[in-house]
Amino acid sequence: MGQDESTPVDESVPPETLESRTLDGLAKYIKEGRAKRIVVMTGAGISTSAGIPDFRSPDTGLYANLARLNLPYAEAVFDISFFRENPLPFYTLAHELYPGKYRPTVTHSFIRLLHDKGHLLKLFTQNIDCLEREAGVPGTKIIEAHGSFARQSCIECKASYPDEDMKQHIAAQTIPRCLRESCGGLVKPEIVFFGEQLPAEFFMSRGLPAQADLCIVLGTSLTVQPFASLPSMCSEGTPRLLINQEVVGGLGSRPDDVLLIGDCDTGVRRLADACGWRDELETLWANTVEKAGTDIGRPAGPTKSKDKTLEDEVEKLTREIDETLSLSKWHEEKTRKDYLAEEPIVNGAEAPAESGTSSPEGDATNKHKPATSTPRQDPKLKAEGTSEPNPPLKLHPSSGEDATPEKNGEDKKVDASDLTHVFPHLVGKASL
Ligand SMILES: [Zn+2]
Repeated sequence: MGQDESTPVDESVPPETLESRTLDGLAKYIKEGRAKRIVVMTGAGISTSAGIPDFRSPDTGLYANLARLNLPYAEAVFDISFFRENPLPFYTLAHELYPGKYRPTVTHSFIRLLHDKGHLLKLFTQNIDCLEREAGVPGTKIIEAHGSFARQSCIECKASYPDEDMKQHIAAQTIPRCLRESCGGLVKPEIVFFGEQLPAEFFMSRGLPAQADLCIVLGTSLTVQPFASLPSMCSEGTPRLLINQEVVGGLGSRPDDVLLIGDCDTGVRRLADACGWRDELETLWANTVEKAGTDIGRPAGPTKSKDKTLEDEVEKLTREIDETLSLSKWHEEKTRKDYLAEEPIVNGAEAPAESGTSSPEGDATNKHKPATSTPRQDPKLKAEGTSEPNPPLKLHPSSGEDATPEKNGEDKKVDASDLTHVFPHLVGKASL
């Protein structure tokens, strides 16, 4: 260690492990059977070609329709305190993003291929889209650093919630509630929201890169800690391959770093060609077609005139939400439950009506005024201010500032200003 990871390795420095610092050199290393414990680290860049919509892009219907839901700022959709007040925007988005609608990319299938060949030690992903699972990578091989839609639980008592019930709620666009009668808390997919801790399994698995004999980094800007420090935790002399649109995270600074700059699907195909795996890869990927799109009733295919379909669907959805917002069954239920839960706290003068069917303009609406009830400030203030309780995470830390595990120990909670923990490809996009 002690190496400056921001400095590209000098071309004259020979590789320590590989025969040559090239794709062919890396392929030879793999074909010789020296890469038996591969760690793969992925970000949104491996899912963009699947057509996962960018909810903050003004080009999509999602953006406009989320704006209509009166979010105080785009990131609020993933803010746990906001979710407690108003889960509808999140479930609007969840309906659109829920697994089963999108087909894995050939890059996802490449990771599956590594597993099939017995070479995959662990996949660390920042993505919540579950496309690795859809491609057939077993859950035991995946660390979803920012959680995913794979499981869901009550945000109050943490009781798990059945997959099938969740699918039904997502399809029906209704809000799931804890099944424990005494609880009734909101249910949420186990995606890491702002203000929540990363999964314990992420921290328990951070020693794995040091055991790897090959590290492959795919489609991530490596700007979000503590995930971003994973590649630096590989041992010196362990080859590291980066396939990404740009050089990131100090990759290229070690003698055995190989860089493939460009899109992930092209990169993994080149690697597969070099290893003689191309046919197997394409066969695996072809098999993903049938499954995609069957779960929630959306036709398969990555493009499907995406924007128009999306716009129409979410437009319809938000119209329905708008219409039902003030007097939905869910509202009535929440009102009733809130009264039951808060009765000891509510002062006597404001005790609920005996009937328990109070006006939704009363308690319920107070609980659903996101713009005023949220403790958050204007996102612009958040981005520029210095006194914000949740200071912005650096989106582009200097590469020489590689975080140590000790330092990362302080980073267990996701910074509220860092949307990229869920959708890293959103960096630099306009906010609502
Ligand atoms: Zn509960």
